Amino acid sequence: EFGTDEGDESDLVIRPPVVTVMGHVDHGKTKLLDALRNANVAGKEAGGITQHIGAYQVSTEVDGNERRITLIDTPGHEAFTAMRARGAQATDIAILVVAADDGVMPQTVEALNHARAAGVPIVVAVNKIDKPDADPTKVRGQLTEYGLIPEEYGGDAMFVDVSAKSELNLDKLLEAVVLTADASLDLRANPHQDAQGLVVEAHLDRGRGPVATVLVQRGTLRVGDSIVAGAGYGRVRAMLDEHGDNIEVADPSRPAMVLGLTAVPGAGQNFIVVEDDRMARQIAEKREARERAAMQAKRRVRRTLEDFMASMEKGESQELNLILKGDVSGSVEALEDALAQIDVGDEVSLRVIDRGVGAITETNVDLAAASDAIIIGFNVRPQGKAGQMADKEGVEIRYYSVIYNAIEEIEAALKGMLKPVYEESTLGQAEIRAIFRSSKLGNIAGCMVTSGVIRRNAKVRILRDSKVVADNLDLGSLKREKDDASEVREGFECGLVVKNFQDIKEGDVVEAFEMREIARS
Ligand code: GDP
Repeated sequence: EFGTDEGDESDLVIRPPVVTVMGHVDHGKTKLLDALRNANVAGKEAGGITQHIGAYQVSTEVDGNERRITLIDTPGHEAFTAMRARGAQATDIAILVVAADDGVMPQTVEALNHARAAGVPIVVAVNKIDKPDADPTKVRGQLTEYGLIPEEYGGDAMFVDVSAKSELNLDKLLEAVVLTADASLDLRANPHQDAQGLVVEAHLDRGRGPVATVLVQRGTLRVGDSIVAGAGYGRVRAMLDEHGDNIEVADPSRPAMVLGLTAVPGAGQNFIVVEDDRMARQIAEKREARERAAMQAKRRVRRTLEDFMASMEKGESQELNLILKGDVSGSVEALEDALAQIDVGDEVSLRVIDRGVGAITETNVDLAAASDAIIIGFNVRPQGKAGQMADKEGVEIRYYSVIYNAIEEIEAALKGMLKPVYEESTLGQAEIRAIFRSSKLGNIAGCMVTSGVIRRNAKVRILRDSKVVADNLDLGSLKREKDDASEVREGFECGLVVKNFQDIKEGDVVEAFEMREIARS
């Protein structure tokens, strides 16, 4: 059932990283995906893939162990960010392809920014090294300027020189992906539970009806399971892998083509396994209604500069993300430099997550939607459907033709964002006695309130051995027995979820506090 526990630590097994290939046009993304597919396919002879299903797995040996990797078969950051704008993050790691004869180009930087905005680690594939004018050292130097520093220069990004054409160093590239995943991500999932995951792509097939390629993110999907996927639902009639072979089960990170749905779900939508068909239908209907409502709500809450000030005043948001687009590179640089000069203190952070020359594109709007960013257009306008899309997604585009005006308005907003002065008072403390993993909610802390009161809407911090390990967090839920509670008092047990902080441990203390506004002197 949806929302059941993730299980014990001991149930978790390593799952393959899911990788998206990004980079500038013509730098070899498609060729690289083809080469990887042909050269090294899990459990198959070379050239074994017969079917395009939107994602495929390959395997490679790392330190004597066979390790699998899932590759999303749609290259480019556009699809990646469009999924994120829909609330889905399929990708664990990005391979940034840079042609060694061409070097870093505008879309290289754009891809880099999109991966960063998503918090996805990057492995650089320096491609086309078979070419006589290839200059991999130059590529390393160029990317260093963007803060992507090769390991060999003391940084933490892995760079691998490859040739997609000559199929050179592909194993090294895959190894770098595995090593990066091991070093910076905790990719584990419990296969012993009902499956959940994402729809990667879907279409209506004349003979087979709705066909969806899904990526299992947790649990194991089985033929015969009742599932809900977007607006579609039904019993999994058959599953196919990337070879076109029938499979009975799909474990975490495994892409599979699913037959048997009643309707075609959208890319980026979730799927879940439920008890039976009847339940599936009910959930699909409810979900559709809820998604419609959420879409409408999103439209309202998405950031405008004014909303931003309001949310800052409520103490909700401290990060303003901007995307800068200008007519010439000089104006974009001048704008970014001037923004960097604004002194907003330590409380607020202003982040330029992407910048570029030229019209505002749909990709810019997608990134803004995915990252709650505002787009600044300096002497440029939206192109094609980008303007309509911004309206639909609730993304604000602010147009300027004088740099000074842009700076002045953003500065005013940021200053308005500065929080009033608050005084803190402690409400109470609870000790974490046990931790339950829920696939829906994350880690649930089973607590005993040892003093005062824990309130649902209070701010909390986590204390470990009397030291603060995380501060100023919100509660995602507070329950007494099975019921939602607005507060739980000393001497009672409760279950709570701390938002945006999963790293709780038994013995940690959750301290609830509130901030009271006091008059500025
Ligand atoms: P994409 O736009 O990034 O998907 O680039 P493609 O994969 O379509 O490749 C663009 C062009 O570069 C094609 O003509 C490829 O054959 C060529 N190409 C890709 N990788 C290599 C490589 O490693 N070496 C050489 N010499 N050419 C390559």
